[in-house]
Amino acid sequence: MFNKDLGQHILKNPLVAQGIVDKAGLRTSDTVLEVGPGTGNLTVKILAAAKKVVAVEMDPRLAAELQKRVQGTPDQRRLDIMIGDFMKADLPYFDVCISNTPYQISSPLVFKLLEHRPMFRCAVLMFQREFAMRLVAKPGDELYCRLSVNVQLYAKVDHVMKVGKNNFRPPPQVESSVVRLEPRNPPPPVDFKEWDGLMRIAFVRKNKTLLANFKTTSIMQLLENNYKTYCSTHGLMLEDTFDIKTKVQQILESVDMTEKRAAKCDLDDFLKLLYAFNQANLHFC
Ligand code: SAM
Repeated sequence: MFNKDLGQHILKNPLVAQGIVDKAGLRTSDTVLEVGPGTGNLTVKILAAAKKVVAVEMDPRLAAELQKRVQGTPDQRRLDIMIGDFMKADLPYFDVCISNTPYQISSPLVFKLLEHRPMFRCAVLMFQREFAMRLVAKPGDELYCRLSVNVQLYAKVDHVMKVGKNNFRPPPQVESSVVRLEPRNPPPPVDFKEWDGLMRIAFVRKNKTLLANFKTTSIMQLLENNYKTYCSTHGLMLEDTFDIKTKVQQILESVDMTEKRAAKCDLDDFLKLLYAFNQANLHFC
């Protein structure tokens, strides 16, 4: 009956569903976005605490079932179901997002939410446990990675609760966790492409020194090309003595990060490093 390709694992434990909704701190004036409402076990609890729910569901069969569930009740006119792929949907205004997410779109889903404007107040989202632990991981944690820093750059992320497989029908193969995201408002004034370019290099081998990660031929080549493009588009002369390796080493030394490893660096370290590179006209995209 349920389509595994669409990650259809229905939350059958009403206490967990209520716990998720409670963590969102809903106000009676809130419009809530729900991704993948399925048969509506979370939806009806959200409707009890908010003004309106906009639910995006890919499976028309489940959308119809949810529509039937609210038919003839006062909830009917406060629920707006959009049938289609969340990743392609034009999102309306919302204050809060609540979702037992389809795990196959976890990462793009988070970034689509974080890019949305105007910014929402918070999101309470269920993910596969390991993905959730990556979102909340701090420097020094085993799961600290590019995803952790990219998301934490834009949001404060907290682990809210663990949810075992048996709370779902059918049970998924993996354990789950709920996290709460609170976007930083205003967002940091960082060019995300630049930032992510630096993170890709730093986290290629997160336990190696930054200098070692930068020193590979392909990365030096990339930075040299970017530097030459930057100079030509900004009317700058390329110095005769220019040597990309020396330049990169000097920048890392200037912020005392030659021997640092991404695994132990926090957001401020990376922001400082990106600023130093950009000040020296070295860019990552
Ligand atoms: N919210 C329900 C619950 O907690 O019982 C169902 C959650 S189930 C894990 C994920 C839901 O997302 C399914 O209803 C599935 O059909 C829907 N879904 C899967 N991919 C989707 C997509 N790209 N856009 C919108 N909905 C999607």
